[in-house]
Amino acid sequence: MAEKGLGIVIGASVTGVLAAAALRNSYATVRVVDRDTIPSLAASRRNVPQANHAHGLLAGGLLAMEDLLPGITKELIAAGALTADLQNDLHWYLNGQRLAPAREPSGIDGLAVSRVLLEHLIRVHVGGIDGISVVDRQAVSGLITHDRRVVGVSVVSPEGAETRLEGADLVIDATGRGSRSGAWLQSMGCPPVETERLDVGIAYVSQRFRRESRFLNGRIGTLCAAYPGHLYGGFVTAEEDDRFIVSLTGRFGTTPPTDRAGMIAWAQRLATDDIAEIIRDAQPLGSPTLTRFPYSVRRHYEDLPGFPSGYAVLGDALCSFNPVYAQGMSVAALQAQLLGNLVAAGLPNDIQAGAAALTDVAWEIATGPDKTMITKRSRSAQNDEPTDQLLAAAVRDPALATAFLRVTNLIDPPESLGDPELTRRVVAAYGSSSVKVRFGGREERVSTLRSRA
Ligand SMILES: Cc1cc2nc3c(=O)[nH]c(=O)nc-3n(C[C@H](O)[C@H](O)[C@H](O)COP(=O)(O)OP(=O)(O)OC[C@H]3O[C@@H](n4cnc5c(N)ncnc54)[C@H](O)[C@@H]3O)c2cc1C
Repeated sequence: MAEKGLGIVIGASVTGVLAAAALRNSYATVRVVDRDTIPSLAASRRNVPQANHAHGLLAGGLLAMEDLLPGITKELIAAGALTADLQNDLHWYLNGQRLAPAREPSGIDGLAVSRVLLEHLIRVHVGGIDGISVVDRQAVSGLITHDRRVVGVSVVSPEGAETRLEGADLVIDATGRGSRSGAWLQSMGCPPVETERLDVGIAYVSQRFRRESRFLNGRIGTLCAAYPGHLYGGFVTAEEDDRFIVSLTGRFGTTPPTDRAGMIAWAQRLATDDIAEIIRDAQPLGSPTLTRFPYSVRRHYEDLPGFPSGYAVLGDALCSFNPVYAQGMSVAALQAQLLGNLVAAGLPNDIQAGAAALTDVAWEIATGPDKTMITKRSRSAQNDEPTDQLLAAAVRDPALATAFLRVTNLIDPPESLGDPELTRRVVAAYGSSSVKVRFGGREERVSTLRSRA
């Protein structure tokens, strides 16, 4: 039963609409405002240019979305999304070697769907919920505050007319990587927010192709990650309407080409010919798009002195992850779930700390390998990192591959990889008398086991 009056969400992309859904049981009215013109069909739009690149939805993210929007999985499938076992229907080449497929269905269930269809359908679903409205072409220009509490936003129309949206019990910033919360809070007297940046130097070139069953033996995709000494990456995933989207990635100044011959040559450097074949033989749909993503960025609002009540910053506005780990939308869904639980429990002041704790997990998963990439960018992988040892063993042992993918799909916590049985399997498969199994980079997650052999 809704108890309070009004929730305002700034931004009607994935984070914003999921946050609105999470607030529906606690607020009589939830207003979502976006500066963009929101298309009435699934289509790309000006302020979400990343939709032109492959967007993987992690299994943990899909579970969270289904929890927030019961029935959304079926709605996506009805609109053309493809169901997939994310261990078996997708081939994962990490450190140049393919993770072992599971002998049984892995239970890591996902969907192959375009970013635009996913965003569109969750917005349509949320827009149909009583009490929630989504209004486009309204740019928020600042916060309205009262006694160090955020109570509303100033909104500017495309014609320049300014209005005030006031009386809010909670305002959520879901405006993405370019969020202006830092400046807005400084104008309220807060110091600059502590910000972490990690240079990842990624360039993406993406293009869609007609999907036919002769490619990938009908599977939904292949992923080849860059690794130390090999700055070339690429992935292909199926989308609705018989399409593939191919994304080629380069690191640290290595930029994939945008001409067909160059793209084929790039893809031929990958661990499998899967992607090169599609670029060479499939019918292109549209032109390639180049995007650069120079750094991951995380803002620590949870530690900001004077952070006002009645306000929270979520999604890419809080943390913009290296996109190759496909975490952004899934972390947004998990944050929205948490938001709903905390607000329903009457603990809105805990949102920022809770979101930071959730973000910690994904940030560590992504920044651990990225830091290794940075320190060893020109050296080849030596299998001397604990994660490398796990991956080397997961090439042979399907159970290790499943455990690894459950963590990277945000189903299980990284600590689950410290399970002694998994450590025993790493020793057995890796053939080493001593291995360190660690994930993420925190010392307390290190466990060492000496082979009993
Ligand atoms: C190249 C690339 C590839 C990616 N691949 C993946 C992937 O595979 N998997 C994955 O999960 N994630 C991926 N991501 C990240 C993913 O796109 C984001 O995490 C996801 O869009 C959620 O972001 P968001 O909703 O927080 O912000 P955004 O999607 O950026 O949306 C912000 C919204 O706020 C609106 N807005 C901004 N300012 C204002 C304002 N002042 N007033 C009103 N409205 C405003 C914008 O119009 C927009 O609608 C990728 C990102 C990039 C760049």
